[in-house]
Amino acid sequence: MARRRRKKSLKPKKPRHPSRYFQCPRCGSLTLTIDFVKIKGNEDEKLAIAKCGNCHLYCELRVPNVLDRVDVYNKIVDLSYDNKLSECEKTEKETQVEAEEETDDNDEI
Ligand SMILES: [Zn+2]
Repeated sequence: MARRRRKKSLKPKKPRHPSRYFQCPRCGSLTLTIDFVKIKGNEDEKLAIAKCGNCHLYCELRVPNVLDRVDVYNKIVDLSYDNKLSECEKTEKETQVEAEEETDDNDEI
């Protein structure tokens, strides 16, 4: 007598709450974060900022206020597929200038 074995389904369980981190379209690491910044005087749009902690990708996208992180991520992936990632990419100069002043304190002799 053959015992019938139930097929075990190996579907990966989806996490209840989505991870804060996305896979970076440029370097492939799971280190991409997406934040939203309010645009002053603009109730319909917001600024989505995607940052990768690994390859330091930095993208700014103006998106409708209703968009979610995942929506923005999909947009970024689309841009990446079309090689248009540079269109939303900002250089460090345009964003925050890192305060890295060299201090010369050898005023002797
Ligand atoms: Zn990256």
